[in-house]
Amino acid sequence: MSMRLLARRAQRLLKNRQDVVQPFKYLLVLDFEATCEKDIPIETPEIIEFPCVALNTQSWEIEEIFHRYIKPRVKPILTPFCTELTGIMQETVDDEEHFPQVFKDFSSWMQRNNFDKDKCAFVTCGDWDLKVMLPGQCAIDGLKVPEYLNKWINLKRSYCEATQIYPKSLNDMIRRLKLQPQGRAHSGLHDSINMVQVIETLAKNHKAKFDLTSVR
Ligand code: AMP
Ligand code: MG
Ligand code: MG
Repeated sequence: MSMRLLARRAQRLLKNRQDVVQPFKYLLVLDFEATCEKDIPIETPEIIEFPCVALNTQSWEIEEIFHRYIKPRVKPILTPFCTELTGIMQETVDDEEHFPQVFKDFSSWMQRNNFDKDKCAFVTCGDWDLKVMLPGQCAIDGLKVPEYLNKWINLKRSYCEATQIYPKSLNDMIRRLKLQPQGRAHSGLHDSINMVQVIETLAKNHKAKFDLTSVR
């Protein structure tokens, strides 16, 4: 066999062994918690927990975490159901800033870490966080949704692409991948950390590629 053929075959073998090349250097995993009531959708839900976990797709390590609680403005008193669901107590939000200040701080965090749109993509479980909740919150506060938050990866869709099963929920993905859930369900930060576990497992065991799935 000629040297050229041999080299080509070696190159092909090497390529097959390599991990999938990820389109984004960082995945910014985000999961809002909001004001809510039992069994009835409330008219203007407000964000009360804002976590964002930056996952490096080369090392699969968490590099940075933004995490803030937010004081709601329209309905400042949390319902007992909301506290029970999210674990967020009235005292936890009482002394916090309202959304506009926290959103400003989030934007500074993005800039400080050079998380620009070409190398980062947001990841959420479903489309609710960035399709419904963020635009709703921005409408309450008279803010414009920044361009970079109008595209994202819906983790349920990435999961389906990798496994051919469309999952019902975050918990469903965790169960199917036989992962140990961390912390408390419906805590925004713990939900985000559990999404990171799902992402890493899909990347390592299912060769998942995390590309944008949704736009607004
Ligand atoms: P999650 O990210 O699934 O924890 O949910 C995000 C937000 O959706 C929560 O903070 C609540 O505002 C709302 N939510 C989730 N599950 C329920 C539920 N069973 N009843 C009412 N609201 C809910
Ligand atoms: Mg969620
Ligand atoms: Mg959550």
